[in-house]
Amino acid sequence: MKNRIRENLSRVRANVAGAAARTGRDPQRVKLLAVTKTIPAEVIRESLDFGVDALGENRVQEILAKQPLLPPGIEWHLIGTLQTNKIKSILGRVHLIHSLDRWGLAEELSRRSVEAGLVSRVLIQVNISGEATKSGLFPDELVDFISDAASLPGLQIKGLMTMAPYADNSEAVRPVFTELRLLAENISAKSPPAQMDYLSMGMSNDYTVAVEEGANIIRVGTAIFGARSY
Ligand SMILES: *Cc1c(COP(=O)(O)O)cnc(C)c1O
Repeated sequence: MKNRIRENLSRVRANVAGAAARTGRDPQRVKLLAVTKTIPAEVIRESLDFGVDALGENRVQEILAKQPLLPPGIEWHLIGTLQTNKIKSILGRVHLIHSLDRWGLAEELSRRSVEAGLVSRVLIQVNISGEATKSGLFPDELVDFISDAASLPGLQIKGLMTMAPYADNSEAVRPVFTELRLLAENISAKSPPAQMDYLSMGMSNDYTVAVEEGANIIRVGTAIFGARSY
């Protein structure tokens, strides 16, 4: 397992470096999130030996269960839907929440963060493809949402996140990534309080195209750990 993880990580890093080079970007500016949902802590630990320092999980319970089993100093990212009733248990435990996708969640995160005396860093999840099964705001809702959310205390908007639809050919989803980048550029020109520092886009199937289109956080699970069994 360990050798396979090492090989997989070098392949992913080489692909990121290639994509960054093709578009004149610094590969060091692209953060690789190892997506560890369903992966046991022992296996995650093996990846840490090869320089993985940021993990993405999509369930709050899984983060709470794994954090005590792994060394401190890892950046944890919540990349899945956050239920309002789980806010309290996750506050202060993650570096970044990638999935702010509705106003009620923004309000509640703000309220709880202020109560706890901290600031929660969030990305806004955008549903670019318009698929009904995907969560996220639609592009035409984004500007108003952000200008409202920017005034909520205890909440710091750091950028945008999207999930592309599944496609056999990753070129097919390039327009989704292009649109997320253009949305972020448009927003940073419009509403100064919202910092568009991060574009979280690209998964195992399509991270190369995402980096070419400006991703600076990619979320990669299968291409590092192999297929998940669930
Ligand atoms: C599972 C997951 C990923 C990683 O998917 P892979 O195809 O295994 O790389 C990325 N982002 C989110 C939101 C996920 O839930």
